Amino acid sequence: MQFNDLQRQYTAYQSEIDEAIQKVLRSSQFINGEEVGLLEQELAEYVGVKHAISCASGTDALLLCLMALDLQPGEEIICPAFSFISPASMTRLLSATPVFVDVSPLDFNIDIEKLEGKITTRTKAIIGVSLFGQCADFDPIKELAAKHGLWTIEDGAQSFGATYKGDKSGSLTDLAITSFFPAKPLGCYGDGGAIFTNNDVLAEKLRVLKSHGQTSRYYHQLVGLNSRLDTIQAAILRVKLKHLDDELQARGQVAATYKTLLPEGIFLPEVVNRRESSWAQFTVGLGNRDQAKEYLAAKGIPTTIHYPLPLPMQDAFADIVAPGESFEVASLLSEAVLSLPMHAFLSIEEIQYIAQSLKEFMEHES
Ligand SMILES: *Cc1c(COP(=O)(O)O)cnc(C)c1O
Repeated sequence: MQFNDLQRQYTAYQSEIDEAIQKVLRSSQFINGEEVGLLEQELAEYVGVKHAISCASGTDALLLCLMALDLQPGEEIICPAFSFISPASMTRLLSATPVFVDVSPLDFNIDIEKLEGKITTRTKAIIGVSLFGQCADFDPIKELAAKHGLWTIEDGAQSFGATYKGDKSGSLTDLAITSFFPAKPLGCYGDGGAIFTNNDVLAEKLRVLKSHGQTSRYYHQLVGLNSRLDTIQAAILRVKLKHLDDELQARGQVAATYKTLLPEGIFLPEVVNRRESSWAQFTVGLGNRDQAKEYLAAKGIPTTIHYPLPLPMQDAFADIVAPGESFEVASLLSEAVLSLPMHAFLSIEEIQYIAQSLKEFMEHES
C-alpha cells in the first residue's frame, strides 16, 4: 500500500500524459513553451482570478509574493505556528520576521481569536495556510487586514481545488500561491508552483521578479530570481487539471468513508460549514500516536506525521521566538496527529483495512 499512490494515477492517465510529454519533446521548447502560457490561462480560469503566474515551486511562489510586496528587513509577517515551514522561512530569508499565531483546534488553521493581538506597526501581511486541503477562515482574516492596512496571502499549497463559501482557494486574498509538488492535490512530476492574483500591478511585478528582474531581455529593472515551470511539467499539469474535479470528488468520498469507519477516540479537523476540502491529507489525532504509527506500519500501512514540531520551536527560528512563549494547540497537535493514506485511487477495501487496523490498535491500547 502507498501513502499517496502516484503510480496508480499515472496508469490511469498514461496515454494522455505520454502523448503530452512526447509533444513537448518533439517541439523541444523546454523553457517557456506554449504549454506554459496555456496552463496559466487554464489555472486562472479554474481558480477564478485574472492572473496565474507559474514558477518553480510553492516556496518560490511565496518568496516572489513577499518580494512583490517589497517586504523589508524588520517588517513582520503573521503565519500559523502549525504548518509547513515555507511562509515563515521565506519571510526570514528576506530578513523580515515571521510572527507565529497558534492554530484553532476546530480546523487546525490559524486561530482568528489569537490573531489581532499579534499585529504591530511593523506587520506587513497575514499569510493564512489552508492546511490539509481546507481553506483558512479568510473572511475574518480579510476584515482584520482591512482594519490594519495589511496585505493578505493564502498559502494554498495543499488546497488547490478547495472552496470557501463557494469561491475557489487561490481567489480569496490579495495574493495566493499553490505548489505542484507531486503529492499535492494537483501535482506535476517534479517541482512547480503558481501565484494567483487579481491585482494587475502585482502580477506584472511578479512576472518581472520571476525572470531575473528583466523587463526585456538583458534589461534588469529589479533584482529577481530565475523561477520557471518547465514546459514538460506544464504539459503534465494540463492533463491532470482535466481530471482534477473527478479526483477531488474521489478524495471527498475516501474522507467520508474513513469518517464512517474510524473507531471512537480519534479526533479530526472539522470541515467547517461552507468550506470544501481538497483533502490533501487525511489527518487524525489520537493518543499514543507513535505506537499507532508503528502498529500500522507493521500491518503494511504507511502513515506520515504532519507536523512533528511546531514552527516556533524549530531551531531555525530560535533567534526570533521569545523563550517560553507557548503555542498550546500547535504543541498538542504535533504530538497527536497522524496522516493516513489518502489519494483518489484508494479502494474501499484498503480504507476498510486501514480503519479496521486502527480499531484493533485502539482496542489493544484500552
Ligand atoms: C508543500 C508546501 C509548500 C511548499 O511547496 P514546494 O512546492 O514544495 O516548495 C508550502 N506551503 C505548504 C503549506 C506546503 O504544504
